[in-house]
Amino acid sequence: MSGSSKSSSNYAYSAATALAQSLGRIDQQTQAVVPPIHVATTYLRGADNSYPTGRVYSRADNPTYEPVEALICELEQGHQALLFGSGMAAATAVFQGLRPGDHVLAPKVMYWALRNWLLTFASDWGLDIEFVDMTQLHKVQQHLRQGQTKLVWLETPGNPLWCISDIAAICQLAHQAGAQVAVDSTCATPLLTQPIKLGADIVMHSATKYLNGHSDVIAGALIAARDDAYWQRIRQVRAQAGAVASPHDAAQLLRGMRTMHLRVRESCHNAQFIAEQLEQHSDVLEVLYPGLQSFAGHDVAKRQMVGGFGGMLSVRLKAGETAAIGVAARTKLWKRATSLGGVESLIEHRASIEGPATPCPNDLLRLSVGIEDKQELLDDFLQALQA
Ligand SMILES: *Cc1c(COP(=O)(O)O)cnc(C)c1O
Repeated sequence: MSGSSKSSSNYAYSAATALAQSLGRIDQQTQAVVPPIHVATTYLRGADNSYPTGRVYSRADNPTYEPVEALICELEQGHQALLFGSGMAAATAVFQGLRPGDHVLAPKVMYWALRNWLLTFASDWGLDIEFVDMTQLHKVQQHLRQGQTKLVWLETPGNPLWCISDIAAICQLAHQAGAQVAVDSTCATPLLTQPIKLGADIVMHSATKYLNGHSDVIAGALIAARDDAYWQRIRQVRAQAGAVASPHDAAQLLRGMRTMHLRVRESCHNAQFIAEQLEQHSDVLEVLYPGLQSFAGHDVAKRQMVGGFGGMLSVRLKAGETAAIGVAARTKLWKRATSLGGVESLIEHRASIEGPATPCPNDLLRLSVGIEDKQELLDDFLQALQA
């Protein structure tokens, strides 16, 4: 019984309360305010050979996932959420649910590891994938093939240039063509954007990032707007191919999620401040951040994002690649590491990790803004820039 947690749509409280109290769930057996971790891999059959709880074997599902899935589902206002062993496991399950020959649109600017996987494995297995500039609605319209395009994959803000795609408008175009829309909403978090409310069919999160927030769990999630044949196939990918998370990680993820609203609020606040300050600097070519008036996607972001523009921004330096790598080398508070969405701020010269096919300029530094003191973060970046 893979993914048994339905949206608790009767939950009457805000996202902050849902998160802090993990939907107010109390363990029925012990009255514990934190749910137990179930480590069992296998479950007893009844004397009549049936499985009384519906549970058989933990490669398909684990009771520790339930409170996590229920909470994510509530935040996204979906029909059902499924936890996966990583963000990539969640994302690739969506594509594995398709069939050879199916036509797919994906963004030109997107999470590099998924783009690589689409270009190699997914293409080899017969998916017909086109990469489109999703910030241009007429381009999306042009590439949709009536009845043939099965999926439009979006990522907004799109890593690492933070391009904004208009979820509601693209959903309308895609649905007219008979395609479903899936949104990688990792960087928007469930707090700043709710894609299902805007028409999306599936939402994906790398729970490794803001959901957990402490850089100590790898996990992913999918949320479906409804139950249909496509979602059934995606569920089978997790259950049959075993793309599952460890129960310990699921428990740690739930602990992380309980403070997500505080962390995300602080990261947005810090990122907005740092983006505005760095935009003024004479060594800076450009700051890419959806919260800046100067940013191309700002108007759509203002409509689509609620309560902040996220904790991710990129800075391009006039002096080019070597200077950018030098800045990352000299920061002290900003840690030189990949990943994002943790409480600690990270800095990365992004082009060098993405390789030659990247759309990322080589003068670009990607900043994941954490929850430290914003002035200290700015000062540290400025001393690295000036040295
Ligand atoms: C990290 C990330 C992923 C992949 O998630 P993992 O948990 O690392 O597998 C996918 N999309 C985005 C936007 C990400 O930042």
